[in-house]
Amino acid sequence: MKKLLIVIFLINFIILSAYSIHYSNEFKIKKYLNPFLKKHNFNFEKICILEADNLNEFTVITKLPYSYTAGAYIQNKDEKDYIVILPIYILKKKGIFEKTIVHEMLHHYLTKYFKMPGPYQEQFIKNYLKKF
Ligand SMILES: [Zn+2]
Repeated sequence: MKKLLIVIFLINFIILSAYSIHYSNEFKIKKYLNPFLKKHNFNFEKICILEADNLNEFTVITKLPYSYTAGAYIQNKDEKDYIVILPIYILKKKGIFEKTIVHEMLHHYLTKYFKMPGPYQEQFIKNYLKKF
């Protein structure tokens, strides 16, 4: 079971790192993200997105409580940071795909450049995304 999960993880990782954010709705994502990037003079950074096959896999990979969130920003000490999301078709069906990606990307910037603690990040992101 563990081996299978790791294989699934790696396959997804490779596929998604190859496509990065480009295979998805980059236009909408940039529309949401650009005001933040412009304000702080940041570039649009590519970040690896790992799509979990299901809620169970999402929970195993992120170690977050079941059904807690649609995405998670994972900070890695030795490797590059990445984002884990629930299956894309579910996020799209719920109409939260782009906002989930932007939410997690904002965690990336706030962690990397502002060293902002988690709870403040949640509040900041919630307020920021209200505009859209
Ligand atoms: Zn968050």
